[in-house]
Amino acid sequence: MKRILVTGGAGFLGSHLCDRLLDLGEDVLCIDNFFTGSKRNISHRFSHPHFELLRHDVTFPLYVEVDQIYNLACPASPVHYQHDPVQTTKTSVHGAINMLGLAKRLRAKILQASTSEVYGDPEMHPQREEYWGRVNPIGIRSCYDEGKRCAETLFFDYHRQLRLEIKVMRIFNTYGPRMHPNDGRVVSNFIVQALKGEDITIYGDGQQTRSFCYVDDLIEGMIRLMGTPPDFTGPVNVGNPGEFTMLELAERVLQLTASKSKLIFKPLPEDDPRQRKPDINLAKTKLGWEPKVSLEDGLKETIAYFEKTIANNSFGIRS
Ligand code: NAD
Ligand code: UDP
Ligand code: UDP
Repeated sequence: MKRILVTGGAGFLGSHLCDRLLDLGEDVLCIDNFFTGSKRNISHRFSHPHFELLRHDVTFPLYVEVDQIYNLACPASPVHYQHDPVQTTKTSVHGAINMLGLAKRLRAKILQASTSEVYGDPEMHPQREEYWGRVNPIGIRSCYDEGKRCAETLFFDYHRQLRLEIKVMRIFNTYGPRMHPNDGRVVSNFIVQALKGEDITIYGDGQQTRSFCYVDDLIEGMIRLMGTPPDFTGPVNVGNPGEFTMLELAERVLQLTASKSKLIFKPLPEDDPRQRKPDINLAKTKLGWEPKVSLEDGLKETIAYFEKTIANNSFGIRS
């Protein structure tokens, strides 16, 4: 049994990762400051003998003894990461330094949850890992994009300078149960709006594209990446290459929820990428991984989750 630290473990992806690691028989230490995560996401594990939860902010040092580290702590939705942009950069950068310092002391393997946002508004389509990206360093998304880019730099410098075993995963838009209903991301927004019969908010003309990966597929890729030989560091794209415009996504959600909500158009946020789609050939080769869950099946699971959440009002009115 390995002792595994998951930072941001009470969040959307982190809680699914904790579940998966416990099911694999590992010992899990979940740390979170509950900025966007919630104890509700992991409360079903509280009585598990190999699960431990610690309230902690990764921008502060952490002294614990573990064998592996998954560093996921960071708000991920534009609404949340722009709420306190200085804290967002600190979380990515100071958080990476502290977790790398911890990994260095323990000689532990460490995985970074990076993002397709490191490619910015890309000129290369689909995006391959070799592409350096087109990121605005001073815009409203920069706290997240540049924070994550700097974290990647730190990971590679700890690897080169201190021979740390690192794994860098560039995650493309992922969705599924336990997304926060008020986080402003497109999948959660459209589903909640459709279920409540509210207008569906399309930003811009709705022709911008994204590729949506279901959470179970993503977690499988993450576990596989951690299991690769020491000479494989990534960065590696993990996402679903199926590409949809936001109008297409809205239509699918309306159809699957049998909702009568109407589409309304709102201004496109600043620096909103036009298109995004992963090239996953590296993941296929090195991880033997590709996504299995179709958008339709994944949306059905997510809709069922939000139906329950709304019925129980279990997220209250937090915005
Ligand atoms: P999330 O907001 O649900 O989870 C992030 C978790 O980190 C939350 O539980 C939050 O409370 C915690 N956190 C934030 N700041 C912290 C701090 N300073 N100290 C300790 N904990 C802190 O988001 P998510 O979608 O689960 O994202 C998880 C990771 O994956 C993030 O690093 C994100 O950048 C990355 N990622 C996610 C996506 C996606 O589509 N979901 C895409 C690309 C990258
Ligand atoms: N650190 C930590 N836990 C540890 C070891 C280090 O949180 O078990 C933090 C420590 O506070 C430091 C950071 O990680 O600020 C980077 O550590 P490193 O050893 O690389 O740098 P140094 O301590 O030499 O500045
Ligand atoms: N979007 C939208 N309506 C919404 C929320 C988002 O049209 O209610 C758009 C947004 O402008 C972007 C895309 O959907 O083009 C994905 O947005 P999200 O915030 O989910 O992720 P990101 O922009 O980080 O990929």
